[in-house]
Amino acid sequence: MSGNRIPFGERDGQLLQADEVPNGLACECTCPECHRALVAANQGTKVLPYFRHQQSACEGGHAAGVRRRAIELIVAERQLRLPPFTQAISAKTMNGFVIRKSVSFEASLLQAQCAYAGVKLSGVTADVVLTAGKHQLLVYVRAAKRQDHQKESTLLALGMSVIALDLQHLRLETILDKEAFRQVVLFDSNVRRWLHTVRGTMIVELTRQTIQAEIEQLNELEKRQKLAALEQRRLERERKDTEFEMIQARNETLRIASTAARMAAFEAQQKSPEALTERDRRELLKHQSNQRAEAIIATIRRAIESWGGVGAECQRCYLISEADTNACRYCESMGPFKVLSFTPDYLGSAQARMRSSLKPDTSVAHVPCLIQNHLSRLHK
Ligand SMILES: [Zn+2]
Ligand SMILES: [Zn+2]
Repeated sequence: MSGNRIPFGERDGQLLQADEVPNGLACECTCPECHRALVAANQGTKVLPYFRHQQSACEGGHAAGVRRRAIELIVAERQLRLPPFTQAISAKTMNGFVIRKSVSFEASLLQAQCAYAGVKLSGVTADVVLTAGKHQLLVYVRAAKRQDHQKESTLLALGMSVIALDLQHLRLETILDKEAFRQVVLFDSNVRRWLHTVRGTMIVELTRQTIQAEIEQLNELEKRQKLAALEQRRLERERKDTEFEMIQARNETLRIASTAARMAAFEAQQKSPEALTERDRRELLKHQSNQRAEAIIATIRRAIESWGGVGAECQRCYLISEADTNACRYCESMGPFKVLSFTPDYLGSAQARMRSSLKPDTSVAHVPCLIQNHLSRLHK
């Protein structure tokens, strides 16, 4: 139990090892923590020399000696190895892109111009203050198991660079080996850490600002890209709308054109020479047929009125001439003739007969044009 084995006893304000003083109570040493009498146990080379309390032991005799010896050493040598520093810094853009940077500096050896022990600062005592140029370094030496959080946080709050040395796990043989103890206290990276580093804080802050500037640039870029993408989508939508409208307009035009074309084709068909001729031909034929029927009836009337109801029917034009005629006066046909007789009541049914007879049509077919002056005389 190193706690019970006290490495250093105090005599005349000095810390001494048990092998540097007479054995037993004759050492005249007191505990560096509780200042009660110690007994030196210096039992030869096989067992390490140490002190123990003469009566009841205190808690901190071991740690108080180690701590005080370390402080004395640093002040005497005015040098101290500073631990390396590393910190990762990261920040995110609004799209979640992460920028990571690591800031660090290597371990280095501080060689101070001045070194002071037990310096009272606002609300706290610094175990050592080392000064190099304008820079000051505070050292917090801990050898006890109990961690002094209050002291650590008060030192931190000063905003100065602070190194914590943690010597609680040193073995008695290291503590009592002057050179080994010196190496550990002054140089061993494993027992020291930064509580706060002004230099580290400064480069962290600078790097943070650099990252922030990059983040802002990226955010601006991301914003522009987003706006560009939105604009692109808007244009695309407009283009599609326009395309759709054009297709609709084209379809409407085609529909109108198609309807117009059908109408035009229909009208054209209605007005085509073939259509006109056919219709007109039928109209004309009907008209001619009606007129011819009237002409035939007129010659029958004449036969009834003038020739005693007897006449010669031309077998070409079916108009009636005098019974003894040799040549049809209406179509100049030389025959044959058919002698027919008509009663006066024939005229009453003449038109109905003609409508159901083929004679008018046949007459027109045989003789498209009758001799007009004879016809004119019939109607007088
Ligand atoms: Zn004590
Ligand atoms: Zn005739």
